[in-house]
Amino acid sequence: MSTATPPVLKPIVDEPVPQPVRWGDAELTQLAAMVRQKSLFYWNGPQTSTLLADFRRHYPLKHLFPCSSGSASLHIAVAALRLKPGEEIIVSPITDMGSVIGILYQQGVPVFADLDPRTYNMDPESVRRAITPKTRAIMAVHLAGNPCDMTALLAIAKEHHLVVIEDCAQSWGAKHRGTPVGLMGDFGCYSFNDFKHIACGDGGMVGTNRDDLGAGLSKWGDKCYDRVAGTRDPEELAPNYRMSEPESAVCVAQLGKLENIVARRNRAGSLLTSLLQGLPGVLPPVTREGDFHSYWFYFLRLDLAVLKVSRADFVAELRAQGVAANAGYIPMPVYRYKVFQNHNFFGGAWPVRDFGLTTMDYTRVSCPVAQAILDDGVTLPLNEAMTDAYIEKVARAIRTVAERLAT
Ligand SMILES: *Cc1c(COP(=O)(O)O)cnc(C)c1O
Repeated sequence: MSTATPPVLKPIVDEPVPQPVRWGDAELTQLAAMVRQKSLFYWNGPQTSTLLADFRRHYPLKHLFPCSSGSASLHIAVAALRLKPGEEIIVSPITDMGSVIGILYQQGVPVFADLDPRTYNMDPESVRRAITPKTRAIMAVHLAGNPCDMTALLAIAKEHHLVVIEDCAQSWGAKHRGTPVGLMGDFGCYSFNDFKHIACGDGGMVGTNRDDLGAGLSKWGDKCYDRVAGTRDPEELAPNYRMSEPESAVCVAQLGKLENIVARRNRAGSLLTSLLQGLPGVLPPVTREGDFHSYWFYFLRLDLAVLKVSRADFVAELRAQGVAANAGYIPMPVYRYKVFQNHNFFGGAWPVRDFGLTTMDYTRVSCPVAQAILDDGVTLPLNEAMTDAYIEKVARAIRTVAERLAT
């Protein structure tokens, strides 16, 4: 008796997602030197001073503070502004909580601007509309490795006397018109968390070229102790966000790999973008003319009217073809998280609002473009281990699915 066997179709992407080896001999060498030290404290520790020197070769910032996370780096930048309670910082609604945590802890108010539909970064006109007499800063989040339109944001900031904080956590190695991210605004903030281009487990770096904001930068992440003068009489409140020598040791080794990692990711991402041009219903991300995208992940959008299926179905078809696609990115814009919807920032209260220093009501915030990006966006993993041949398979799989569904 013969049993009909359904035809087994081989997926177009017939191999698992390539995974890079991220830590190895270079990290071991640094760590071996580190364990023989007399102290693991960061201040003048040999690992941390090496890290600062190496970091400056990539990002020549005059004042630097190596800290415990990207969130810490952003909090330190915000603290250095000495916000008055209720002052505002304009930020993207598609980002990590780390962008807004420091603003809220400093009793500031995050104000969400809407995004450009194709770069997923803040739309300068939306930023302009969000400015009020209480605005102190713009936080430019370079999402997924794609630089913001810094030329436009810096012009707005100059016109309105605003500080610009660059959140570079996802954009190691990215450049706007040839200038690395983090060097154009007043502060550059970076993350070494486990998932970023380079990582030490958890760590961060904050830097500025401005002497007025940078002198004493370390105080904002080191309990307001003055390590330069060696005195202990804190004038203001500051957390302990220090990096320590073990993390610095790993960061030194990781920084040595940065250029190669970024070059390979840019090559893979640019190739995928070029191969997806002109596909029905598929909108690859747009990099602004002259900019360099370092592709922390790959984020495309679907035109569901053209594809005539739901995003979930499209993603299921991609997965059947071996593409490690995921529907969406973060589940909703940041202002829609419970903590914002309930204004539950400090034990169920929000002092700056309770004391009449802001009228912000996050239940009434709406950024329709950001919402649309999260509703029809698809993310794909992208990393430095992906060869051209692998990317070509991914592109072929997406093309096959899109062309079939769009007809
Ligand atoms: C990861 C990330 C942060 C926070 O970095 P941590 O090191 O995890 O604190 C901030 N902003 C963005 C955009 C990020 O992706």
